Amino acid sequence: MTLLVLCDHDRGVVPDSVFEALTFAKSIADETNTSIQAVLIGQGSEEAVESVLSFGVKTVIVALHDSLTDYGPEIWGETLAQMVDSTSAKIVTACGTDRGNEVLAHVAARLNMPFLANCRSVRIESETCLATRIQWGGSLLEDVKSDSEIQIFSVEHHSITPEPLDPSGNGTVVEFSPELDQLFERTIVVDRVVRTHGITLTTAPVVVGGGRGVGSAEGFQSLEELAEEIGGVVGCSRAVTNNGWRPHSDQVGQTGTRIAPEIYIASGISGAIQHWVGAMAAKNILAINTDPEANMVVKAGYAVLGDLHEVIPAITEEIRNRRSK
Ligand SMILES: Cc1cc2nc3c(=O)[nH]c(=O)nc-3n(C[C@H](O)[C@H](O)[C@H](O)COP(=O)(O)OP(=O)(O)OC[C@H]3O[C@@H](n4cnc5c(N)ncnc54)[C@H](O)[C@@H]3O)c2cc1C
Repeated sequence: MTLLVLCDHDRGVVPDSVFEALTFAKSIADETNTSIQAVLIGQGSEEAVESVLSFGVKTVIVALHDSLTDYGPEIWGETLAQMVDSTSAKIVTACGTDRGNEVLAHVAARLNMPFLANCRSVRIESETCLATRIQWGGSLLEDVKSDSEIQIFSVEHHSITPEPLDPSGNGTVVEFSPELDQLFERTIVVDRVVRTHGITLTTAPVVVGGGRGVGSAEGFQSLEELAEEIGGVVGCSRAVTNNGWRPHSDQVGQTGTRIAPEIYIASGISGAIQHWVGAMAAKNILAINTDPEANMVVKAGYAVLGDLHEVIPAITEEIRNRRSK
């Protein structure tokens, strides 16, 4: 039996989320006596192969075609669906990132199978899949049972620590040529704006978050300065994006980005459940708030009670002072 793991590289760069999916898949492969085949699609796959092989995968399938240029959910979904047919795979998975979920949803629709998104645990017993998956951004756990012929599920992002499968790294690469017509190029990346400082909300080791308490778009200047000083990025709550102070791409939470930095500095943020579910994977949280009973203060590992307009510049200044000594 074959288990396909979509490794959704970005122009050859393999994110950690792929290794989370491979680690998760390994336990299922061991339990079901199944062989893992990692799937790389399109341009950049040649560069990505090395990372996947060195993680200990024994077989990597690389799908190449003139139409497979940059990422496209439809064309990747069609390619993966054809691969499922040709390998007779019974299990298909990916990490539950935006891309992983988007591509697997296309695969499931094309194969007319159900799709279980963002699973925290999965057990496959003969032809039944018993899974627990997160709903409502992680505030609800749902137990699901699926008897479908092909099990398609994604793994909750950030819920597992990657562990190499087999350090020997002696895997093989198999080429796959899907049959694709130009209709599948309807949704494809043709251009992108690259962030100059390279880190994003999802990958930043430090996020300095601001909420309604910041008071204005201009109020974020001191948060930007602190973030710059400690190699982080600025995030915000929905109250902030609703007020038009920051773009939606900066929003943390259920309807924004889920973050997992080493430190999340949440200033002027009450910690409503919809915000919390996007921030709770942070390793450490420092809340800065005037209200000692704010949910964020209660849940944070560290808190400073005070006006963020005084506290944040004071932290920045202290860091600068210590660095200059
Ligand atoms: C379906 C749905 C989805 C949602 N999705 C999201 C989401 O993805 N992300 C999100 O963030 N929210 C989301 N929300 C909104 C969420 O419920 C809250 O309304 C929002 O998070 C509140 O933002 P806030 O904490 O900035 O504001 P408030 O709740 O108003 O909190 C402001 C905080 O700032 C503190 N404060 C005020 N002045 C200062 C000061 N000078 N110094 C220090 N502290 C100060 C206050 O004590 C307070 O704790 C969603 C809501 C719904 C219904």
